[in-house]
Amino acid sequence: MTIRNKLIAGNWKMNKTSADAAALARDITSVAGQRTDVEVVICPPFTALESAAQAVAGTQLRLGAQNMHPEKSGAFTGEISAEMLRALFVSHVILGHSERRTLFGETDGFINLKVLAALKNQLRPIFCVGETLTEREAGATLKVVQAQVERGLEGVGREQAVEIVVAYEPVWAIGTGKVATTAQAQEVHAFIRSLLTKLFGDVVAQKIRILYGGSMKPANAPELLAQPDIDGGLIGGASLEARSFLELVTAAAAAK
Ligand code: PEP
Repeated sequence: MTIRNKLIAGNWKMNKTSADAAALARDITSVAGQRTDVEVVICPPFTALESAAQAVAGTQLRLGAQNMHPEKSGAFTGEISAEMLRALFVSHVILGHSERRTLFGETDGFINLKVLAALKNQLRPIFCVGETLTEREAGATLKVVQAQVERGLEGVGREQAVEIVVAYEPVWAIGTGKVATTAQAQEVHAFIRSLLTKLFGDVVAQKIRILYGGSMKPANAPELLAQPDIDGGLIGGASLEARSFLELVTAAAAAK
């Protein structure tokens, strides 16, 4: 049995008004709000963090943001700082999601600044890495993931590293309905753990959760979550509806 508690995080992306988010958060808390066997995190858009925070207050559910800027404050129009997130009772923040990397040009170096700023402000990064289809077909998956992990986590100390959650999200599996096979996913997860061992030592690496993300659904989750290095899921589409998201939480609990 692993020492790592499974984690299921919902990335709601640019979906849900403030009122819709509060309603979905309430539906989730009413069923899973007191669970401690699985860590459950919901990541609504910025505009819904406050209403979602009220909905999860007093429950075990944790609140995550989908992005943040590394600077504390200043002339960064349209951006949000770690301090602002903390003031809304946010505990986690998704960083380096492939949509941020590809659609908004985020580099490993910029993501690294965000990771360091999140940790400095007691926010737990959900740090995303993953290869494109072209990179996989060229046999470059491990090389790409290695560069993303090493550059993205540069300067992170051992004592801070335990706070990090890594999400392996093959870009070709995100929102496409194509899921990595359990063997493909486990291979990369084990590789990421070996990189974390080199960076932070075995004791710390064994404590870091590595989530799988990419079309995870109730039907494919049990097999993925049973893999030794898959410690949960970062869920897009299936997190937008309470029923499918709660089924994934149940699958994670059963996979212990
Ligand atoms: C994601 O965007 O992080 C994700 C995994 O999306 P989906 O579950 O829809 O593939």
